[in-house]
Amino acid sequence: MIEYGHFIGGKRVAGTSGRKQDVMQPMDGAVRGTVALASQAELRAAVENAKAAQPTWAATNPQRRVRVLMKFLELVQRDYDELADILAREHGKTIADARGDIQRGLEVVEVCIGAPHMMKGEFTDGAGPGIDVYSMRQPLGVVAGITPFNFPAMIPLWKIAPAIACGNAFILKPSERDPGVPIRIAELFIEAGLPAGILNVVNGDKEVVDAILDDPDIKAIGFVGSTPIAHYIYSRGTASGKRVQCFGGAKNHMIIMPDADMDQTVDALIGAGYGSAGERCMAISVAVPVGNDTANRLMEKLVPRVESLKVGPSTDSSADFGPLVTAQALERVKGYVDIGVKEGAKLVVDGRGFKMQGYENGYYMGGCLFDNVTADMRIYKEEIFGPVLSVVRAPRYEDAIKLANDHEMGNGVAIFTRDGDAARDFASRVQVGMVGINVPIPVPIAYYTFGGWKASSFGDLNQHGPDAFRFYTKTKTVTSRWPSGIKDGAEFVIPTMN
Ligand code: NAD
Repeated sequence: MIEYGHFIGGKRVAGTSGRKQDVMQPMDGAVRGTVALASQAELRAAVENAKAAQPTWAATNPQRRVRVLMKFLELVQRDYDELADILAREHGKTIADARGDIQRGLEVVEVCIGAPHMMKGEFTDGAGPGIDVYSMRQPLGVVAGITPFNFPAMIPLWKIAPAIACGNAFILKPSERDPGVPIRIAELFIEAGLPAGILNVVNGDKEVVDAILDDPDIKAIGFVGSTPIAHYIYSRGTASGKRVQCFGGAKNHMIIMPDADMDQTVDALIGAGYGSAGERCMAISVAVPVGNDTANRLMEKLVPRVESLKVGPSTDSSADFGPLVTAQALERVKGYVDIGVKEGAKLVVDGRGFKMQGYENGYYMGGCLFDNVTADMRIYKEEIFGPVLSVVRAPRYEDAIKLANDHEMGNGVAIFTRDGDAARDFASRVQVGMVGINVPIPVPIAYYTFGGWKASSFGDLNQHGPDAFRFYTKTKTVTSRWPSGIKDGAEFVIPTMN
């Protein structure tokens, strides 16, 4: 039994609140350990630690700071197998997919090695007589991240790396469902040379999240999770004057045009719909074939593929996807399938009864596929976050784009077509933050930014890429004048550059 506490002041510490919860192993339903749930006092200890360490770190020159990131990248390569194993065991995704989770995080760390360049300010020589103007980016101080269960390596790294590269101290509140990898990440950063106190991990639930939201020394919060919590965190965090960015849920559509290469489309759809048991914010959960003929051709190829999906334990390298994260998640997703049937959608493939032989206590279900889903159904409107794909038949292209535009969520979207003009029109008009053209999961590469629109995001800067350096720094603009010896006397009119 593993006992996860917190990581404060450069080392693992036990929880002192007296509250804890079980950490499960979804592939067999075993209790893997416990995780401490922090109190407000434990958060304060982390903040005090971070506050004390941050000024020296901020004063360390930026190239020296990013050398810690370089060393961290090396250490993760050494421990990759161990990290992927912990991740797969606590999340439930396959080991191959867990490796991808880590890799997409490392790619952001790589880009953050460019922090010295990204933090450079602007300079105008001679903005007025004897006047130079320049701006600089300075760290905010102590900042925090609150992250979801579904990418326990990638999303913490998307936040930690830019925050600390910019000279901040960081407090991570990872998901209480899979805390193992975030703690190891903190340990590896210390081994890589990060001073104690610059990265703290505080485990917990709503109690510690609320303490983060109200703590006067925490200057910014980056959140990723479901939309209702994103909205809550944004409202309460900004009300207390913090800089807050919150990324929420999704309902990602894939529009399939009549001219799409159907084999390529089905390959893309099956991976994007069912990979990681559909527990990805960029998973495709709605397929929108345009025209009945397209829909029929799609279903003909898709149905046998969904029927033959291989579900297996996280450690089975031949599995397409593993179990869901918790017993509650499994019940919730099966409940949505029941709702879809009641609402009148046609359940073409039913994975509710799937049992994994030898792993009867694991949280498994097979892939489910609905046809004839309509926009008024709950299974269309709400995020299911499981291996359930809905097919909504659209008579025309305009109906398809309208579906994506009218949906409350706007995280990702894709169009599959051979027609460049249709693709161009779609990319220009669709009201969604991340668009794929014949690419099913258009998670932008690390040096671009990641963020949805509408109810998928609150705040005005995206994650990673150039926005991350803006989010984790504040701009100071200096107007300087070195008099030439001629004194002008007092000036009572606002200075202009006329
Ligand atoms: P979640 O909202 O339940 O939890 C996210 C974080 O908030 C966790 O750290 C959790 O401890 C905390 N939290 C949960 N309930 C809280 C409450 N009542 N008050 C305060 N804090 C609370 O999300 P999850 O189930 O861990 O993750 C899945 C969700 O995250 C999905 O909706 C998915 O779409 C979304 N997600 C979005 C993105 C994105 O970039 N837009 C990326 C990954 C996941």
